[in-house]
Amino acid sequence: MDCIFCNIVSGEIPSTKVYEDDLVVAFNDLEPQAPTHILVIPKEHIASAAEITAENSLLIAKVFEAIAKIAEQENLEKGFRVVNNCGEQGGQTVGHIHFHLLQ
Ligand code: 5GP
Ligand code: ZN
Repeated sequence: MDCIFCNIVSGEIPSTKVYEDDLVVAFNDLEPQAPTHILVIPKEHIASAAEITAENSLLIAKVFEAIAKIAEQENLEKGFRVVNNCGEQGGQTVGHIHFHLLQ
């Protein structure tokens, strides 16, 4: 499968990683829309929020555990936004689930 974010996970496409563990990776958005604009993704390919199931939802929980850690690491203690775009009409342009972390 030709997926930009799977290729970022594997290192085939370079990125500026700000966080990584066994299940989750986070990297700076290529075209930041805010001073802090980080994309947080599960390493395993899930196409979108519409594809979250009982079988894979633990990975989404792990994404949010990572977001809390990244927020502390990036000094976002005053607050931040987490945004997910789902599907064509939801503004999703990359077909690997991702959460925008913005401040
Ligand atoms: P979406 O519109 O799907 O919610 O968000 C996709 C995001 O991925 C956009 O903010 C876009 O700038 C970012 N993006 C697309 N291609 C790349 C890439 O190759 N590297 C990085 N770091 N970000 C990318
Ligand atoms: Zn993927």
